[in-house]
Amino acid sequence: MNSITVKAYAKINLGLDVLRKRPDGYHDVSMIMQTVNLYDTINIKKTKFQSITVGTNLYYLPTDRRNLAYKAALLFDEIHPIRSGLNIFINKRIPVAAGLAGGSADAAAVLKGLNRLFQADLSLDELMKLGVKIGADVPYCLLMGTALSEGIGEILKPLDPMPDCYILLVKPEISVSTKHVYENLKLDNNTRHPDIPAMLNALKENDIYRLTSLMENILESVTIKEYAVIGDIKENMMDKKALTALMSGSGPTVFGIFDDQNKAENAYRYFKSSGYGKQVVLTKPYFPNSANR
Ligand code: ATP
Repeated sequence: MNSITVKAYAKINLGLDVLRKRPDGYHDVSMIMQTVNLYDTINIKKTKFQSITVGTNLYYLPTDRRNLAYKAALLFDEIHPIRSGLNIFINKRIPVAAGLAGGSADAAAVLKGLNRLFQADLSLDELMKLGVKIGADVPYCLLMGTALSEGIGEILKPLDPMPDCYILLVKPEISVSTKHVYENLKLDNNTRHPDIPAMLNALKENDIYRLTSLMENILESVTIKEYAVIGDIKENMMDKKALTALMSGSGPTVFGIFDDQNKAENAYRYFKSSGYGKQVVLTKPYFPNSANR
C-alpha cells in the first residue's frame, strides 16, 4: 500500500460545562461530544524522499509544523519510524477556527491513516495517548460518536448514541479566540452550570425533546455578550423551529437541532440567503462502526 485516504469528522458539543481553572492554567471540563457527518478528506502518500510535506485547498492554513496534521505525522514517526517521506493533502470542508475541532480531527485522522498505511497495529487506546500530546480534543476525535469528555478533555466515556435528528451549522464571519473566551469566563457561586447528569439520563432514555431542553454551553456567557451575532443566529434558529440552538465549543459556530427534515431544510435556505454565515451546513449525527475507528 503506497497511499491511503481518510476522513476527518467535525464535532459539536451537545453540552459544555467548565468546572474549574486548574493551577496549570488548563480548565477541568465536562462536555458531551457528538460527531457530525461533515468531514475533511485527507490523502497520505508515501514518497521516496525523507521529508513530510503538507498541502491544503485553503491558502491561509499553515502547512508546516503548526499544522496539526503535520504534528501528528511527526509524533507517529517517533513511535513507529516511517522510513520514507510523506505527502499529506488535506481537502478542508470543516470551517476553520469554528469550534468544530477541525484541526484536531485532521490530526486524529492522520494518526489513524498512518497506523493503517504502515500496518503499525497501534490500538485505539495507544493512538489516543499519542493524540493528547497534540491537543485535548484529539483523543475524542479518534473515539468519535457520542461521548462524555472530562479532565481537560482527555478522559472519555462512550455514551448511548444521541437520537436521530438534523443538525444545522451556521458559522458567522467573526473570529473568536478560545484563549480569550476561557480567560474571560467567570466561575463563582452564582455561575449557572449546564445539567450534564440530566443530559446523560436523557441520552439513556433516547429522548431528543428532554435532551434538547437541557443543552447548554457555559462559554456562551462570554461570547454572546461580546458578539451579538451569535445570539441573533440562535434566536433565528429558534424562529425557524429548531428544538434548540447552541454555540459549539468556544464558537463562533451555532448549531440548531431539528426533529423534522422540512423544518431543517427551510432553516438552511433561510441562513444561506440571510448573510448571517457564509458557511452553512445541514448535516446529521455520525456514528463510526468499529472497523473505521
Ligand atoms: P476547537 O474546536 O478544537 O477549539 P476549532 O474548530 O475552533 O478547534 P480549528 O479549525 O482546529 O479550530 O483551527 C484553529 C487554528 O488551528 C486555525 O487558526 C489554524 O491556523 C490552526 N490549524 C492547524 N492545523 C490545522 C488544520 N489541519 N485544520 C485547521 N486548522 C488548523
